[in-house]
Formats: sequence, C-alpha cells, structure tokens
Amino acid sequence: MGGDVRDAGRAMAAIFRAACPDCRGRFELAAGALRLAIGASRRTTFYSFTCPDCGAAVRKPAGERIIELLTGGGVRTLRLHSSV
Ligand SMILES: [Zn+2]
Repeated sequence: MGGDVRDAGRAMAAIFRAACPDCRGRFELAAGALRLAIGASRRTTFYSFTCPDCGAAVRKPAGERIIELLTGGGVRTLRLHSSV
C-alpha cells in the first residue's frame, strides 16, 4: 500500500515510522536517520535509511507527499543532478 513513512505526530523532533522489507521490522526513525534524494524523475527520487534491526540499506521511492513530510521534518535532502 505505498510508502511506509508516516508522520508520527506533531512533536518538535520529527519521528518517522518506517518498515524494513528485509527483516520486516517496524521502527521509528529520527529525521537524522533518513536521507532523501530528489532526482530528475520519480525513479530517481527516493528516501533511504539503514535498518536498525538487520542493518540493511533500505531505499524506497518517495512520492510528493513523502517528500513534503521528510523535508518538513528536517530530513537531509540530496539533490541529484544527472551527469550526462
Ligand atoms: Zn531490517
């Protein structure tokens, strides 16, 4: 059903709920644990984090709403420029 990131509340410190596709763990991540990459197209726009349970590097596509949530929550954003 789409993204796993949800705004977990209106607290000052943004906490995002996320789930790991590898170990299926569910956890909460602070904004500093997430990264958002915005590319030229939807395919290159994604967020990523490291699973605190199994250590997997998780990458998921980020839709507009997720981008809003993440940037609003202070997640570091990388803007990718195609280098061709
Ligand atoms: Zn995991």
